[in-house]
Amino acid sequence: MCSDGSTRAQAAPDPIDHLVIVGNGMAGQRLVEGLVRRDGAPRRITLVGEEPCPVYNRILLSPLLAGEMEREALTLRDAAWYAEHGVELVLGERVETIDREARRLTTDGGREIAYDRLVLATGSRPAMPPIPGLDLDGVRAFRDLDDADALARAAESGRNAVVIGGGLLGLEAAEGLRKRGMQVSLLQRDNRLMNRQLDLTAARLLENELRGRGLDIHTDARLERLEADAEGQVCAALLADGTRLAADCVVVAIGIVPNAELGHVAGLEVNRGVIVDEWLTTSDPAIHALGECCEFEGQTFGLVEPIWRQVEVLAARLAGEDVEGYVEAPTATKLKVSGISLYAFGPTEAEPDHEVLSYRDPQQGDYRRLLLRGGRLEGAVLYGDTASGPWYFEQALAGRDLSDCRAALLLGAADAQALLDDASNESPHSPSKEAA
Ligand SMILES: Cc1cc2nc3c(=O)[nH]c(=O)nc-3n(C[C@H](O)[C@H](O)[C@H](O)COP(=O)(O)OP(=O)(O)OC[C@H]3O[C@@H](n4cnc5c(N)ncnc54)[C@H](O)[C@@H]3O)c2cc1C
Repeated sequence: MCSDGSTRAQAAPDPIDHLVIVGNGMAGQRLVEGLVRRDGAPRRITLVGEEPCPVYNRILLSPLLAGEMEREALTLRDAAWYAEHGVELVLGERVETIDREARRLTTDGGREIAYDRLVLATGSRPAMPPIPGLDLDGVRAFRDLDDADALARAAESGRNAVVIGGGLLGLEAAEGLRKRGMQVSLLQRDNRLMNRQLDLTAARLLENELRGRGLDIHTDARLERLEADAEGQVCAALLADGTRLAADCVVVAIGIVPNAELGHVAGLEVNRGVIVDEWLTTSDPAIHALGECCEFEGQTFGLVEPIWRQVEVLAARLAGEDVEGYVEAPTATKLKVSGISLYAFGPTEAEPDHEVLSYRDPQQGDYRRLLLRGGRLEGAVLYGDTASGPWYFEQALAGRDLSDCRAALLLGAADAQALLDDASNESPHSPSKEAA
């Protein structure tokens, strides 16, 4: 408020001159999309990416591997789009160093690029277990298009595959290779598949379904080493209990490690990822980080949902808009294996003060388990009919007291919502009662 009582609009800050984004992946691309539609966007944007191809939807590598999608359908934007929006695109070059004092970075192609503001969106790489044989030919991760191509080729020439890791990525890789005609063994260290998302019942349902399709699943598996043939090509996986599994190809999918080295070498504050505050700003105010390479309040990221929210905050911030800072929020998980519906969020294990509601219909193959505390939903696992998953998730995020619809909660969103509506209509404070 001015001294004369009038209000004066705050002057918008000058746009940033040159913004450089390192990483032409899901986060980097989405940030560019968020910027080009904003008035206060930086005057110049340059996107530098190590992968030589135009940006693609990494999530769809799973259906691509399974032969359910064509390669072209993954491309998000082609070179013409960048030209149209005045974005400079440097592909196939890896940023190697950042000189923070000179505000300049250098790529492995010898290119030097000056910046006024820099964003690190370098993603992550597959974690590798400390096991002999991981460097053999035929051992792959499942992270990018090259991996998907290599695995598809392996399926043409080989017969047996071993997938290490029974989480989302391992399962999607295993199903993809099976659909391409391979005999696939899947190794899971834990006693159940997707142990971070599923309770034992849902995990067993999933396991039975996948076994029925022909996957050879080993839970509680301890991989000791990979063995090579005379040409140095992987030929088997050896487990601690003596089991020997033939393998023409091995896929490692045990987790991810943030690509934080660039930030580390540049002297930024780094823990597992490049540490950022709620504005996605690193310890250097001229450098931001987002996506799987960053770490916020001790959390790193592996799904796009929180990353999209980070993008919204950072895009608005870089365009000089007022915006609330990023806050952590729970994320729901789905599995992209055709014919299997799974939806889960929250803790997998019930604590003593949790109320557990569960429902199972073996004939339909449906299972639901809800964890409530004080009438509020904290976690859910749905297998089979997952249509109500997003409704449950919404209730949990809103922290809504569901006591009024407890009797119908397991029946699904429509029945439970109807009870909630009835209860609010009958409430003495509802407008209809007050009017009456
Ligand atoms: C097969 C698969 C399936 C998935 N399915 C799902 C799903 O169903 N749901 C979901 O939410 N998430 C899924 N994910 C995870 C999701 O893809 C990631 O969370 C998302 O891609 C992260 O975006 P990002 O931009 O941080 O990293 P990325 O998309 O990996 O992009 C990082 C980019 O930076 C480049 N780069 C790294 N270092 C440098 C450097 N020094 N110089 C230049 N460029 C560099 C990399 O080459 C890469 O192109 C899946 C991932 C995979 C691999």
